[in-house]
Amino acid sequence: MLLLNVSYNEKDDAKKLGARWNPKLKKWYVENKEDYYKFMKWIPEEADIVAIENLYLFEGIHRCFRCGKETRVIGFGIDKYINVCFIEDLEEDRDYINDGLNNEDIHIVGPIYPIPEKILEYLTDKYNYKMRYSKTTGDSAMRNCCDHCDVLQGDFFLFDEVDSPFFIDNDEKLKRLKIFRIKLKHDLPLQAAMGFASYDELFKEKCEIVDLDIEI
Ligand SMILES: [Zn+2]
Repeated sequence: MLLLNVSYNEKDDAKKLGARWNPKLKKWYVENKEDYYKFMKWIPEEADIVAIENLYLFEGIHRCFRCGKETRVIGFGIDKYINVCFIEDLEEDRDYINDGLNNEDIHIVGPIYPIPEKILEYLTDKYNYKMRYSKTTGDSAMRNCCDHCDVLQGDFFLFDEVDSPFFIDNDEKLKRLKIFRIKLKHDLPLQAAMGFASYDELFKEKCEIVDLDIEI
């Protein structure tokens, strides 16, 4: 189920397209994920994708460049999704948009925004994950910091460098990952950079995936 931000003036449009009203949540929603693409104008503008059914949490080990000790770091992953970036080509590209609906592999997406509140509580409680300013990007965001010396572990070094913990190109690195699954009650529009890598199909096959009991 996907919740929609429909203003009062637009409610007839949404209804005509098949949206329904949830009186308890006081929100319009759409049930059938095959139809989500019709409603993309009513999800937050910054969203790149809608994560469907599951959100994954990846825990990796990274050697801190400052203190030299190993620290835990986290990233996110997604299997089923809808790509929102192609909204302008809706008519022509319906298949393309819904391409990720039956995707089984988990793709690492790195940081996401916004992070649902319950997950944020869990992360800030369990990890040294917090709001930090980055000189490289010139903004503040939730970021990984060293468990030992608290220094910021930049996203580029965690996700894009060849020796980073979430850049998986061999079984040894795969074995050092912990993967957790969070079942989504509502599908989740997110700002996230989807990455595709050759090892993505092996996460479910070779890693133990533990369900996290976080209700969102
Ligand atoms: Zn450190």
